[in-house]
Amino acid sequence: MRKFIGFLCVMLMTCLLPGLALAKPMQVAVGVAPVEHFARMIGGDLVRTTVLVPAGSDAHSYEPKPSQMRAIAAASVYLFTGLEFEQAWQARLRGANPRMTFVALDAGMKKMVMPEHHEEHEEHHVAGGHEAPELDPHIWVAPSQVRRMCAGIADAFSKADPAHAKTYAANLRAYLKRVDAVDAQIRMLFANVPANRRNFLVFHPAWGYFARDYGLTQIAIQYEGKEPSPKRLAAIIGDAKTKGIKVVFAQPEMSQRSAATIAKSIGGRLVMADPLASDWETNLLNVAKSFRQALQ
Ligand SMILES: [Zn+2]
Repeated sequence: MRKFIGFLCVMLMTCLLPGLALAKPMQVAVGVAPVEHFARMIGGDLVRTTVLVPAGSDAHSYEPKPSQMRAIAAASVYLFTGLEFEQAWQARLRGANPRMTFVALDAGMKKMVMPEHHEEHEEHHVAGGHEAPELDPHIWVAPSQVRRMCAGIADAFSKADPAHAKTYAANLRAYLKRVDAVDAQIRMLFANVPANRRNFLVFHPAWGYFARDYGLTQIAIQYEGKEPSPKRLAAIIGDAKTKGIKVVFAQPEMSQRSAATIAKSIGGRLVMADPLASDWETNLLNVAKSFRQALQ
């Protein structure tokens, strides 16, 4: 009988302990919605996420609110993507919670230079000397970079919560299969597009890594985060006409004024392509289909 009671106690303990662990999910803070999605896919019920940039806000000029800084104070892990606002706020984010593990998901990534620095290179040197070129922070729009980000997330979660390392590793394997499936579908979409039809026109240059992965060329309207000058606007319209471009892509949280002007001038359409949507797989496939249609 005593043995049986002892056995019951062990049974109860093994049932209750994982329950207790589940009752207290790890607090994880991130900058933008797609990265929150990756964190949820890999963390599952074991994590609770806070995203700093809400839907409809510009991720480039964002400033965290006091309530968000309080959420940061309770976070165990910050998944850092390298956005401008994250760089500007890095010291304050770290200062709000010195015990929080700061994980740079862009560590070791060779980032692309934002397109305007190629085009306006000479002008820049005359005006601004030798400032460092602005690097493209939109690393989550390409499966090749997303794989690395997700591996970094799983690694960070396993270090912060070693008891569940196996779960994080299994979730990572399962999610990478989904990333591979999205990647394969997009590759098929663009497989037969001729070389002279691979240009797409966007207001904000958020799709550089996507373009690189699939052999496309992104032409951006926005210049250094600003609306283009009339001279630049005219040049883009001329270029779009020469290349037979009929679609201008814009994103919901940004101005659509100059994009609409260009669409009108080339007799084309304005179409939305959102780099910040939270349902990463569905959104990226939809954007890819829109791009593909525009290349017809
Ligand atoms: Zn952006």
